[in-house]
Amino acid sequence: MLTVLSLQNINIKEKMPGEEQPEWLETLEETPLTSRLRRKESLKRFNTWRIGGVAECLIDVVNVTDLSFLLPFISKYRIPWFILGKGSNLLIPDSSWPGIILHLSGEFKSWEPLENNNPSRKNNEVSAGAALADVTFAQRCVTQGWSGMEFLIGIPGTIGGAVAMNAGAHGGETAEFLMQAEWMDMEGNLHTSLRDDLEFRYRFSELNGNYGKIITRAVFKLQQDDPESVEKKLLECQQFRRDNQPCNQPSCGSVFKNPPGDFAARLIEDCGLKAKMCGDAQISPIHANFIVNLGKASSADILALIDTVRETVLSKHSIYLEPEVQILQSSV
Ligand SMILES: Cc1cc2nc3c(=O)[nH]c(=O)nc-3n(C[C@H](O)[C@H](O)[C@H](O)COP(=O)(O)OP(=O)(O)OC[C@H]3O[C@@H](n4cnc5c(N)ncnc54)[C@H](O)[C@@H]3O)c2cc1C
Repeated sequence: MLTVLSLQNINIKEKMPGEEQPEWLETLEETPLTSRLRRKESLKRFNTWRIGGVAECLIDVVNVTDLSFLLPFISKYRIPWFILGKGSNLLIPDSSWPGIILHLSGEFKSWEPLENNNPSRKNNEVSAGAALADVTFAQRCVTQGWSGMEFLIGIPGTIGGAVAMNAGAHGGETAEFLMQAEWMDMEGNLHTSLRDDLEFRYRFSELNGNYGKIITRAVFKLQQDDPESVEKKLLECQQFRRDNQPCNQPSCGSVFKNPPGDFAARLIEDCGLKAKMCGDAQISPIHANFIVNLGKASSADILALIDTVRETVLSKHSIYLEPEVQILQSSV
């Protein structure tokens, strides 16, 4: 049976002298959520750069009921918050995070091929939960013989992150295959929006935690193909990564968006910045738009390299590179 949690029944406790934890946290710890609440959790494990400080509170949100309680709770008490997927496009500051990090899990990892009424006509549609790994999605498409989103095999994020960032590669992008997305607002209401009613651009979507919109699941339509040929395309995408990107070093993928008609990597390389270091952060000698963590890089090291790249490219090419990487800061 689902427990219905209501903000009306929750009272924020008075803070006693000498108490160190925020008042909202004590209240939250006593709320009967199914989701796991972690205290003082290092965020290093929650991003692919392996960088970042400690979060006061991280919640593995396992179902819609808990999410629809947490979002109004967060807004009512103005708690700093952020939603992350696999943190594969995220720079997390070295300092501690005073609020709540939401990390979708449990029922948000669903994969449900959608049936139509005519069994002789497959409709190639699937509903995928926001926490499902892109790699898992791509591999499951192969077994169905569904083509189109093979590019996700090389993107180490989640479906929620792919929709939020309109992730893409090899000429394809997520929004092309999206039919509709389900999302929750900060009042805890679920909405379903058709792709054509949403704004998507190159590495931009209006559905993003940054705008107070939490993606819970998405429906995609793929093209029917022969499983062997889908697998071949998938393997080609993987091989391309191995040949052209520093796959074995912690990174966030491309740090900057490509400017119109050009490539950020080409501009950075042309400025002679390949292999430039700051602390343990390095502009990858393999791919100039990647910054890799050689071991103990801090967020400050990465930011210093980002600044150097932007200033140098601006002064040599008069092009202002816009970061693709998201920086952890409190959402609305
Ligand atoms: C080795 C490597 C290669 C990469 N290659 C590519 C590539 O080819 N193409 C490409 O586009 N990207 C690439 N990336 C970047 C990254 O993987 C993608 O942007 C990915 O879609 C981010 O997903 P995530 O789940 O990790 O999101 P996160 O990095 O955790 O979050 C990114 C943003 O999405 C928001 N978000 C996450 N989940 C939700 C949700 N459920 N609801 C609302 N907002 C949400 C976050 O708040 C944040 O603003 C690469 C990264 C790495 C490390």
